[in-house]
Amino acid sequence: MLTGPALTRFRKNLLAWFAQFQRDLPWRRTREPYRIWLSEIMLQQTRVAAAIPYYERFLSRFPTVKALAEAPEEEVLRLWSGLGYYSRARNLQKAARAIVAKHGGEFPRTEEDARALPGIGAYTAAAILSIAYGEKLAVLDGNVARVVARLDAIRGDLRANGTWAKLQNTANALLEGKSPGDWNQAMMELGATLCTPRAPQCLLCPVSAFCEARKKGLAEEIPAKRAKRGTVVITLAALVLTDASGKTMLLPPPKAAKKSVDAGDVPTLVSKMWHFPTIAVGKRAEEELRAFAEQRLFGGRKLAAELVPLKQVRHAVTYRAITVFPFLARVVKLPKVTGARVLLVENISEVAISNLTRKVGQEAATRVGLPFIDTRA
Ligand code: SF4
Repeated sequence: MLTGPALTRFRKNLLAWFAQFQRDLPWRRTREPYRIWLSEIMLQQTRVAAAIPYYERFLSRFPTVKALAEAPEEEVLRLWSGLGYYSRARNLQKAARAIVAKHGGEFPRTEEDARALPGIGAYTAAAILSIAYGEKLAVLDGNVARVVARLDAIRGDLRANGTWAKLQNTANALLEGKSPGDWNQAMMELGATLCTPRAPQCLLCPVSAFCEARKKGLAEEIPAKRAKRGTVVITLAALVLTDASGKTMLLPPPKAAKKSVDAGDVPTLVSKMWHFPTIAVGKRAEEELRAFAEQRLFGGRKLAAELVPLKQVRHAVTYRAITVFPFLARVVKLPKVTGARVLLVENISEVAISNLTRKVGQEAATRVGLPFIDTRA
C-alpha cells in the first residue's frame, strides 16, 4: 500500500490527469446533491451515453426533490421507461418522499441518514456525500475495486467478503482529503476509461509508476474472471388486440394485476410495467396464446380473429434471453378486462412500459400502418 511521498505523488498525478482529461458529463457541471444522486442511480446499471438523455428529460420534468416526491409514481416510471431495472425509479421516489418528510427536502448530510434511504447503499452514499458536500468518504464500485486491486496486485474474486473489505480499506487510505469528490470521480474515471476490464491502457495511465500489477505483468489477469451464470432461455407470446379504431389493450403491472388477468410469473418477467397480454409458451405459441386469450380475456368465448404473427422480438435481461412471438388480432370489440387500459396502439408509451413492450408495440403499429409515437419526451 502506498504511503508517504509516493502516496502524495500518486494523488497529484491522478488529480492532474483527471483535471485535464475528464469527460464532460452533465452531472459533473453541478454539486447539487439531487442531481448527483439521480446520476448515480441511473448509472448503476446503465451506460453513460444511454443515461444522458434520460437524466436530462427527468430533470426537466422533476427539477427538484419536491417535484419528484409529489409526482404520481406512474409518471416517474414513464420517464424511466426504457432504462430498465425499474425498482431504481421506485426507490428514488420513495427516497425523495422521505427526504421531504424527514429532511426538509434537502439530501441528508450524514452517511447514516443517507444509507437509511431506499436504494442507497455504501457506494452511492459515499459518491453523493463526497461530491456534493465534500465528505471524506471513499467510493468502492466495480471500477474503483479493479483499479485498487491492480495497484496492489490483489488476485482472486474481488467480491469475496474479506477481499472487498480490504479493497475498501485501501480505497480509504488512498483518498485525497482536500477534494474527496474530485478524488472519487478521478478513481472512477480511471477505471472507466483507461484501467478497463480488458486491455487496460497502461501506457497512458497517470499512475502506472505505482502499479504493482503492471510491474508484474498481471494487469489483464486482475480481477479474476467470475464464473458466469448460465443463460436461461425464455419464450413468450404476446397478444396485440386492436379494434377498428386502432385501439389496443394493455394489462397493468403485476401488483395491480392481482385483480386483473393473472398470467403467472410472466408480467414480472416482462417487467413490472404495463404490458400486452403475454404468456410463456412451448412449441405451439399461436395455439397456446389463443387458448389463453379465450379463457382469460374473453371469458370462454371464441376469439373470432386471425392471429397474425409479427416479427419476433428479442430481449436480454441479466442472465435471461427472452424471445417474444407477438401476434396481432383485429377484433370488432376489445374484451372488458378489470384494470386494463385501452389506448391507441401507436400511443402506448403514454403509460409506463418496458423496452420489450415498446418493441412489440412498434411492430404492431408498423403492421397496422400507423406511426409509433414515443411520448416519453
Ligand atoms: Fe490500471 Fe494499467 Fe494504470 Fe495499473 S498501470 S492502474 S493496470 S491502467
